[in-house]
Amino acid sequence: MQFDDDADLDTSEVRDVRGSRVPGGRATVGGGIIGLIALVLGVIFGVGPDQLGLSSGGDAPAASSSSAAQVDQSCRKGSDANARQDCRIVAVVNSVQDYWRGEYPRRGGTYGNATTVMFSQRVGTACGSATSAVGPFYCPGDRQVYLDLGFFDELRTKFGSSGGPFAQAYVVAHEYGHHIQNLMGTLSRAQDGRTGANSNAVRVELQADCYAGVWARHATTTPDEKTGRLLMTSLTDDDIRDGLDAAAAVGDDRIQERFQGRVTPENWTHGSAAQRQQWFYEGYRTGDMARCNTFR
Ligand SMILES: [Zn+2]
Repeated sequence: MQFDDDADLDTSEVRDVRGSRVPGGRATVGGGIIGLIALVLGVIFGVGPDQLGLSSGGDAPAASSSSAAQVDQSCRKGSDANARQDCRIVAVVNSVQDYWRGEYPRRGGTYGNATTVMFSQRVGTACGSATSAVGPFYCPGDRQVYLDLGFFDELRTKFGSSGGPFAQAYVVAHEYGHHIQNLMGTLSRAQDGRTGANSNAVRVELQADCYAGVWARHATTTPDEKTGRLLMTSLTDDDIRDGLDAAAAVGDDRIQERFQGRVTPENWTHGSAAQRQQWFYEGYRTGDMARCNTFR
């Protein structure tokens, strides 16, 4: 995955609150034992903690901006995205949203931007306060994606993924898949409290994987809407393999095997490794969001 060295990055789509102290409030999700359970149950990669009934609600404040907003200062050009992980996330967010800003209206919808909040350790959201242990997530309440970059290390060390830049892009694109679902009104289907291989929760997650694949198909042909330039110039088969490998690594069966020693499909919330790969690939193969009907 390569970006045009001279392309401009739009840091307004990412809010960098790493290093800022965000008071946690009472409603904390994710620490210690709870964190491990949340992990096993698959909050990881999910929809805001509140949506899965794990947050106790409460008075968590929204994340505040920080003077240490590194991405604003450091992530100006595609060359920065080719060199630095945080800038790469900015570029991926730009690319994903460039695509959906064009495509979603073609399908008759109105696209509204979703900001990605880069945080460290703990963050307050409209879905409650969360720690990094819950993994990246999308909060429908404030329409923001929350991401601690440390998760990408865990993707390798804890979940056994091969890693790679596109594995990270897949994670980001999956979360924006939830944003599309939120705009479409399908995201709430996951909130019936049911789990299991055929549950709505799993269908919603697999659809987000499929939408990530749809973006990937168009990533190197989607121009920046302001400049008309291509931001991403190269996406190889190896990159796609990294994405598929990450999708498998966070499959419910793999996570259950790893953390609880046995597979219990009745507790699935995100789908198996095979399903997650299959739906990412379906989106990538067809490039057509209409093919992402995981509810049929
Ligand atoms: Zn998800």
